[in-house]
Order: sequence, then structure tokens, then C-alpha cells
Amino acid sequence: MLQNEAMAEFLKAEIAQKGPMDIATFMDHILAHPEMGYYRRQDPFGERGDFMTSPEISQLFGEMIGVWAADIWRQMGKPSPFAFVEVGPGRGTLMADMMRACKGVDGFHDAARIFMIETSPVLRRKQEKTLKGHKAQWFERFEDVPQDMPIILIGNEFLDALPVHQLVKMGDGWRERMIVLAQGVPKTIGGMQGALQALAPNLLGGGPEGNLDFRYDTKEAAAEFLALVPDGLPQVPDGNIFEVSPQRDEFVRLASRRIRENGGAALFIDYGSAESVIGSGLHAIFRHAHVDVLKNPGHADISSNVDFGAVRRVGEAEGMKISGGITQGEFLKALGIEMRAEMLSKKASAKQKEDLQSGLYKLVEMDQMGDFIVMGLSYGPDIIPAGF
Ligand code: SAH
Repeated sequence: MLQNEAMAEFLKAEIAQKGPMDIATFMDHILAHPEMGYYRRQDPFGERGDFMTSPEISQLFGEMIGVWAADIWRQMGKPSPFAFVEVGPGRGTLMADMMRACKGVDGFHDAARIFMIETSPVLRRKQEKTLKGHKAQWFERFEDVPQDMPIILIGNEFLDALPVHQLVKMGDGWRERMIVLAQGVPKTIGGMQGALQALAPNLLGGGPEGNLDFRYDTKEAAAEFLALVPDGLPQVPDGNIFEVSPQRDEFVRLASRRIRENGGAALFIDYGSAESVIGSGLHAIFRHAHVDVLKNPGHADISSNVDFGAVRRVGEAEGMKISGGITQGEFLKALGIEMRAEMLSKKASAKQKEDLQSGLYKLVEMDQMGDFIVMGLSYGPDIIPAGF
């Protein structure tokens, strides 16, 4: 049996046994199931994988973030040692590029204790290779990072991998969106839908050969989720969705407390919105294309848009100074990415020049990855994060 079929069977059995499944549990199984989880079993990045991330696009990205980290370190008075933490480090490219960029920063390499937070054994092995020559330590949980030193924490496309619950507007309030078994739904659809199915199956999701085993339902929302809905959201018609993520909030809270106790800063970069917005941000991505979340769950990456409004609220409640959210394009330009690209181009071959230019374009343009959101969290008046 293919992995994805195994996952679909597993989810069906879970729902049959335990009843309707919330979106967070659904995401968690798909991403983090010990054997079948998406990140647990493969390396999803790159041209031949399912998606491309900024550090994999160009070394320019890691260099800029490295310079950002070195600047924070300098402002903190060059503490040694300090915890240089990356959460969700993918192939390890970002950490390697950051360290290379900071080679010339006097004392930085000696002071940095590299801590990688990764749950996937496959990716951890990749990271170990990428970071050969550096002394790094791996943990599955951020909580396990040694507590007694200042911290600089980086997370690129990490927060979006943490599960969300979806609330659905109904009447005066919100209900929680659940996934149930779609008993009785025919596998073949006729009429107009059938025609659409034949022409453009991706528009509909399940197809004649597809898998319509799941559908959405709702249930009463728990008070703890309702408490996460901020004031001031626009009035919207029934059926609209607002996402909350207690897991993400909890991570930001832990990171903030750590920063408050020991000093330091965190930088989060992700797709999403700078403020809380209405709408479902749940995506399933397979081979660089969006696919139906409920169709063959488990073979595609699944992630959600990051609500940086929620990150801000949690950080502020913990006494953090918040910088941004601004776009990745604005942030990287403020840090001097264009100058760096120009400098590298001077000594580059024609092919390298082209790569630098296309990498820069993808990282900063708004219709590329330039519209990602960047947010900094820091503590104390003495640290002013660069780039904002
Ligand atoms: N930062 C990398 C990879 C982003 S993909 C890049 O930009 O290329 C998300 C990463 O987070 C993967 O490495 C995945 O294995 C890891 N991850 C997902 N959920 C996690 C969790 N709960 N704890 C730690 N790492 C997690």
C-alpha cells in the first residue's frame, strides 16, 4: 500500500472509532505521525519535491538572516556562549549560510551554540550532513534547549507547520470545523460536475477515481478557542472561517519567556498575514500545486497561513517588543540584499550572475516570495532588531 493510502485508511479508522476529527488533529497526523507523517518520511523540498523555501532558492537569504543575527548578538554585548536556535531547519541550509556569513564577525563562531529543533529523522540526517564541521546539537522539542544562556532564535516556514483549529461563523458566534466520514457520497459525480470533473478535476477535489471519503461538519466550539478570537474582526456572513492555533501560541509563548529570562530575540518568517484576517489558510501542496485538503490526505504537505496578529498578541502579553510584521521583500532590502547581490555579481560567472539575479527576484518580489511576513520579537530597550 502507498503511504498516502495508508494515511487515509488510518484517518478513516480514527474517525470511525473516535468520532469527528478537528482540523488540528488531522494536520498533526498527516505531518507528524511517527511512521507515515509527511515530514517524518521524506525530504519535501526543491524542484523535484513539493515546494521550495527561501534558503533553498539562494544563499543570499541565509546571509541576510545571519547578518541580522550577528547584529542582535553585537547589540546584546557579544555574550558567549549564546544559544543559536533554529526551529524547523529543513535541510540545514539556512543555518549553514548564516554561519558562513558570520565567519568574519569576531567571536561569533566561538560564542554560538547551535541548537537545531527538528522532529523528522530524515531531515535531521540531512542537517547533520549540511552542518558538518560545526558543533551542533539536535532536539525534538524547543523546551529541551539548555536554559542558561541568551538566545537568538530563527524560524523560517516553521510556524505554518504547527496545527490550527478552524472556527466557522454561524449566526452570532463560531462553531468548530470538523472532518467526518462521507458515508453515502457517491464516488462518481454526474451532470455539470461530472463534466467539470473530467476537464479540470483539481477544481473539485475528489474525482471518479478520487477519494471522497471525508467531508466537513461542525460542532460547538470550546471556550478556550473562542477566547482566541480577537475583537475587531469584520462582520462576515455565515460559513466564513477564522483560524486559531493554541499550539502555535504556546510555542511563541515559550520562546518569549525564554527570551525574557535570558535575553535575546526571535525572528519568524512565514506566509500569512501581518494582522488577523478571516479566511481558511489551510493548503495542501503536492509537486508545487495546490490540491484538495480532503483528497488522499497524507501524500501532500499540509500547512496553514500564519496569523502574525496572533503572534504579536502572544508576544506582547509576554512583554516582548514586536518588530514588523513587514514583508520579506521590505525586510531583505532594508538589510541590504541588493547590494550584496551586486557585490557577489562582480566576481561571478555569467551563469552565477543569472542565478543571483533570479534568486534575488524570487526572494523579494511581491508575486514571488517577497510577500511573506517577517516579525521580530525581542526584549529590553537596548535591542533594536535591524531591517524593520
Ligand atoms: N526552515 C526550512 C524548512 C521549512 S519546512 C526551510 O526554510 O527550508 C518545516 C520544517 O519544520 C521541517 O524541517 C519539519 O520537519 C519541521 N517541523 C515540522 N513540525 C515540527 C515540530 N512540531 N517541531 C519541530 N520541527 C518541526
